Amino acid sequence: MHDTALVLFSGGQDSTTCLAWALQRYRHVETIGFDYGQRHAVELECRTTVLERLRAEFPSWAQRLGTDHLLDLSLLGQVSDTALTQPKAIELAASGLPTTFVPGRNLLFFTFAATIAFRRGLAVLVGGMCETDYSGYPDCRDNTLKALQVALSLGLATPVVIETPLMWLDKAATWVLAQQLGGPELIELIRKETHTCYLGERGELHPWGYGCGRCPACELRRRGYEAFVGGSSPAHPSAPGNEVAP
Ligand code: ZN
Repeated sequence: MHDTALVLFSGGQDSTTCLAWALQRYRHVETIGFDYGQRHAVELECRTTVLERLRAEFPSWAQRLGTDHLLDLSLLGQVSDTALTQPKAIELAASGLPTTFVPGRNLLFFTFAATIAFRRGLAVLVGGMCETDYSGYPDCRDNTLKALQVALSLGLATPVVIETPLMWLDKAATWVLAQQLGGPELIELIRKETHTCYLGERGELHPWGYGCGRCPACELRRRGYEAFVGGSSPAHPSAPGNEVAP
């Protein structure tokens, strides 16, 4: 029965939208987050606030929202040299990937999530990975995650389903999806409580949320929000299986 899910939930815009998508769709939903020595603890603080507000302000979702799991993955900071965990510039490295790339991060995240889902009897793993306006991270690609779904299903000898509802949406369409799922209340919650900025900046509230306004993550979020508000970017046609639940 695919009516229970574990959502990879970081406290950002994408994973919060994915969590709302899962709460609309599944009978029981749990969340998992990873503490891997992020340069800024603000992301982990945001996820607590978002969960609290979802429980308080969305009663029909609150009854479906179960345990939150926070895993200490500090070893990821030890084995990788990245701008997310080290004080270094966010730029394109010689590999052609941004210095924010943590090699294999999503492979590890999903594998740990699958281990917890197995123990908790949760059938579906949900992640906010996206190929549309991503930074080229190869572990965000649809084929990578489909291959991982097969590997996990074989390795655990149980059907593991990985759902990525944002895979073919751009940032504006992600706001549209949030609007469809939770109306203006969810838009406000995402705007104010989720965190995207690579620099951990939360001083000033812009129309699109908090952030430095200059790092690649803020740029993407700002452009997406402006397109959403301006109505110039209708939702992309959904890929099969990515329809919005009624
Ligand atoms: Zn920023």
